[in-house]
Amino acid sequence: MKRRALSPARRFGIIFILSAPSGAGKTTLYNGLREVYPEIELSVSCTTRGKRPGEINGRDYRFMSDAQFERLKRRGEFAEWAEVHGYLYGTPKIPLERCVRAGRDILLDIDVQGARQIKKACPEAVSIFLLPPSLPELERRLSARGTDGKDTIRRRLANAQGEIGEIIHYDYFVVNREVNEAVRVLSSIVDAERARISRVNEWRLEPLRRKMRRKSDGQRN
Ligand code: 5GP
Repeated sequence: MKRRALSPARRFGIIFILSAPSGAGKTTLYNGLREVYPEIELSVSCTTRGKRPGEINGRDYRFMSDAQFERLKRRGEFAEWAEVHGYLYGTPKIPLERCVRAGRDILLDIDVQGARQIKKACPEAVSIFLLPPSLPELERRLSARGTDGKDTIRRRLANAQGEIGEIIHYDYFVVNREVNEAVRVLSSIVDAERARISRVNEWRLEPLRRKMRRKSDGQRN
C-alpha cells in the first residue's frame, strides 16, 4: 500500500457553516460533500422540535424537551443557539472545540442567527449560504418533501425571504441548481480554505527540503 505523504503544515480544524432556507436542498448537498470529504465531521445539534420520520436521535439531532434545552443553555453548553421556526436549536460546544483543537474540520448546518453568533466568536470560521434557484422552486421542494403541513410550509417560505437578506454577512454563496455542480463549488471552497497560509500554525518542511537537497546533489554528481 502506498503511504500518504505527511502534510507539510499543521493547523486547527476549520468550522464550515452551511446555512440555507429549508428546502434549498442542504441535506443532499451535505451528503454529496461528505462523499468527497468523509473526514469532515458533522456537528449534531440539539433541538426541541419533534423527530421526523426517518430521523435518528443522536445522528440527525439530539431531540429534547424545552426543559432539557434550557438546562444546557443555562450551563453554557451551546456554542450558539437560536429559535428557528418556533423551536429551539443549539450547537453543543464541547464536540466543536474538540474537533478544532484536534485539527479536524467540522460542518455546521445552522440558521442565519447561529451563523452570526459563531462568526462573532470565531471569525476564522467559514460561512457559506446556499441559495435555491428561485422561491417558486423552493416552495415546490418544500411541498414535495411531504413532511410538513401547509401552515409550516407557509411559515418556512416567509422565513426564507428574511433569511436570504442575511446573505451579505456570509463569506460565500452557492446556488443549488444542480447537486453535482453545487458540490463542486462547495469542494473548491473547502480546498481553498484548507490551503490558506494564515491557518498554518506549524510547518513541517524539513522532509521536503531534504528531498530537494538530495535531488540537487544528484544532479550535481
Ligand atoms: P430542520 O428542523 O428543518 O432540520 O432545521 C430548521 C432550521 O434550523 C435549518 O435552517 C437549520 O439549519 C437550523 N438549525 C439546525 N440546527 C441548528 C443549530 O444548532 N443552531 C441553529 N442556530 N440553527 C440550527
